[in-house]
This record gives sequence, C-alpha cells and structure tokens, in this order.
Amino acid sequence: MTPSDATAPGDPDPDCVFCRIVAGEIPSERVHEDEQVIAFHDLSPQAPVHLLVVPRTHLRDVRELSADPELLAHVTTVAGRLTGTRGGDFRLIFNTGASAGQTVFHVHAHVLAGGELAEGAL
Ligand code: 5GP
Ligand code: ZN
Repeated sequence: MTPSDATAPGDPDPDCVFCRIVAGEIPSERVHEDEQVIAFHDLSPQAPVHLLVVPRTHLRDVRELSADPELLAHVTTVAGRLTGTRGGDFRLIFNTGASAGQTVFHVHAHVLAGGELAEGAL
C-alpha cells in the first residue's frame, strides 16, 4: 500500500451503512442535519421516539468520539434539542463494542424518549 492509499481516521468507509446514510446513498428519515452531525429515525424503533445522532465523520465508537470533546458535546446537545420538541426526558445510549450490542461501527447516540421507558431498553 502506498501512503496515498491509506485512509485517515474519520475518512468515509464505503462499506459503512452510516457513512452511506450521511452521503445520502441510503435513504433515512432525517430530523436534523448540520455541518458536524445528522440525526434520523432508527429503522427498528425500541421506544415511541427512537432517533440516532451520527457524526458525519467515520469514528468507530464513543471512545474515538471522546478524543473530540467538542463533537461529543455537540452530539449530546443535538440529542437534547431534538427531544425538547418531543416531550423532554430522554435516554442516551452509546453501545460500545459487539458484546455491548454495537452492530454498526460508526459512532451513534441512540436517543430514546416518549412515554415511560422500560428499564434496560436496548
Ligand atoms: P447499534 O446496535 O450499533 O447500537 O445500533 C445500530 C442501530 O442502527 C440499530 O438500532 C438499527 O436498527 C439501526 N439501523 C441499522 N441500519 C439502519 C438503516 O439502514 N437505517 C436506519 N434508519 N437505521 C438503521
Ligand atoms: Zn461510517
């Protein structure tokens, strides 16, 4: 591999479903977008409101996201704003690693809200 073939951290991964959603190659029901993140409805909702907040950059999980505290704060701020117009209280979840339930290895915050949330949802 030559240096020009190397992908830098954060570069889009053509095999990543969320990179493809960010690029608009896979449709999603977007509720928010800005220069840093997009948010859309989860395909398989686990609560009356189930949104995903996804940085545009391809970071693997919240450990990598934590290296950019401003971006992490932006993800949580957007989550709070979105639920503010959808009832207020919410649960924010970052599944991190396969054994913790992570299936898409592009960091995303699950935002669950609406009604009484069951203990242990997700
Ligand atoms: P994880 O299991 O990695 O924490 O969460 C991945 C989430 O992405 C799951 O809740 C799953 O339903 C959702 N998901 C996977 N593929 C798609 C997709 O193509 N579109 C949407 N809107 N959600 C997806
Ligand atoms: Zn990705």
